[in-house]
Amino acid sequence: MASGMAVTLPYVAVRGAQSGRTLWLHGQVHGDEINGMVAALRFARSLDPATMRGNVVVTPTGNPHALDARRKRNPYDELDLDQTYPGNAGGLVSERLAHALMTEMRGPIPSTRCIPAAE
Ligand SMILES: [Zn+2]
Repeated sequence: MASGMAVTLPYVAVRGAQSGRTLWLHGQVHGDEINGMVAALRFARSLDPATMRGNVVVTPTGNPHALDARRKRNPYDELDLDQTYPGNAGGLVSERLAHALMTEMRGPIPSTRCIPAAE
């Protein structure tokens, strides 16, 4: 990214004691709307896995390029991420990011530390 930071999507996964569905929550999609990141992390911290059925995955940011630029749209393609779902593996940066996120969301709960994002 322009800041020199690697492109990754850090997340917090809270696994419930009982199996069930997974809620996936982005704290931020538009790079100029950052308050949701803190709220999403506070929500994740408030959960008690021992009492949960299912899982919660929180990505503090779902759009690292826009966050890095503090802009609503991705500066590399000027697309609005929330208008690009379900994405396109061969598309523009935002479309590839949406595709990567949808692939992760439809798969098993992540087991790695970060989700690789489109660069
Ligand atoms: Zn927004």
